[in-house]
Amino acid sequence: MTYFIQARITPNEGNESKKLVASAFAVCISNAKSEIGAISQARYHINQYDWVFGEITDGPILVDESDFAERDIGLELYRTAIRTGFSFHIIGVAIDGKERAPREIRIDGDIPMSQLLEVEKRARTQGECLHFDSGENCTNVIYAHSIQKKSTLSSICDDSNHVLMRYSDAARIRKNGGKIPFRRIGIKEASVFRGFCSYHDNQLFEPIDNSPFHPDPRLATLIAYRSICKEIIAKKYMIRVEEQFSELHEKNKATRNLFQSYALGGKIGLAMLEEHKIEFDDMLETENYQNIRCTMFSMSGAPFFACSTSFFPDYGFSGEVIQNRKDFSYCHGLIACNTVATNDGWALLFIWHATSDFACIPFINSMRSAFREKKYSISNYIAHFLFSSFENLAISPSWFNSLDGFQRDMLNDIMTENAGPFDPLDSSYLKNPKCGFIDLKISGITDFPTQ
Ligand SMILES: [Zn+2]
Repeated sequence: MTYFIQARITPNEGNESKKLVASAFAVCISNAKSEIGAISQARYHINQYDWVFGEITDGPILVDESDFAERDIGLELYRTAIRTGFSFHIIGVAIDGKERAPREIRIDGDIPMSQLLEVEKRARTQGECLHFDSGENCTNVIYAHSIQKKSTLSSICDDSNHVLMRYSDAARIRKNGGKIPFRRIGIKEASVFRGFCSYHDNQLFEPIDNSPFHPDPRLATLIAYRSICKEIIAKKYMIRVEEQFSELHEKNKATRNLFQSYALGGKIGLAMLEEHKIEFDDMLETENYQNIRCTMFSMSGAPFFACSTSFFPDYGFSGEVIQNRKDFSYCHGLIACNTVATNDGWALLFIWHATSDFACIPFINSMRSAFREKKYSISNYIAHFLFSSFENLAISPSWFNSLDGFQRDMLNDIMTENAGPFDPLDSSYLKNPKCGFIDLKISGITDFPTQ
């Protein structure tokens, strides 16, 4: 959706305009999902250019191209926002009373993209062995697969061994008009992370890498363990990048503060993940799996996507709060979610440790209540949840190409739903799923081990 906002702005201390401007307005056009998202985005960009965002004098109102039909500057602003996600002009009234011409401002910031990409690249090559028994011998840290390569990725790739995955960094999304761009990626590189040495990766995960999955608490523990370790490495990577981006933007207070707040949020999430990992370390070390819980959705037919992730459930399927993700006074419950190959098809697994029962049982129950109401199909609920929530998700290129244009656009909209940094998460995002065109062919739901 495209919003128009006009607001009063004042120059920051140190902004050269301070001596010249009696008053000023910013005219902003924002691609956002909500009015709040549009205002946050406008405030962020205005602050970034050394202005204080003040009273909103017009909007946010929804606009389209026809609103700017006779207005050259407005039309150009509108088209820039459609292309890049956001645009604005500043109109200042000079001290002598004359209105100044709108000022052309670039929104890309002042750090070259190549320098930002270099920071990302350096951070990505760092890694460590997270095996519960890691030590001095863990020198050969490899790019380990978080989604099984042999049984899972190889079953959804095209003839040249490629799958589709999403780009998730803000710059690329902005360049693509606010939509998530897909990239083709070879299955050797897809979903890899530097979280285990070669010895421990082979030794620990052999039972889940080389045989189809069957309901077994040890196998479920291994699958969840790998996805938790993947999240830990991903969090550490993001924190490194955000801290370095913050340093690079030392002259730009708004951007610096934004990256610092991201890094701080990342550190809180990391501490919680590490706390959960200790429970899994303990189960694997003692080979006692009585605290593992798993809900398995069996699916018939050929798989057409694959995912591996861990997440802290926030809202249920009727919009109810499962756990308050802004309350950091306790460790939030964690649930792992993975697709696996089985003897007669494939399956989606939700796996957690008993210490997360307080959040995961209400989450699974909320899903089951939605199924019972039958407002939408089970497949629709599950597919919408997966595609709107997870980044580490690989899609079969031939399946994607079999969708029509409308369905592809819909899938992209769903995958973009929760990706914007300025829009608050909509609590009802699981309530009205839009994946009716996806049929997962769910043949059964099993809980194990039975309590
Ligand atoms: Zn190791």
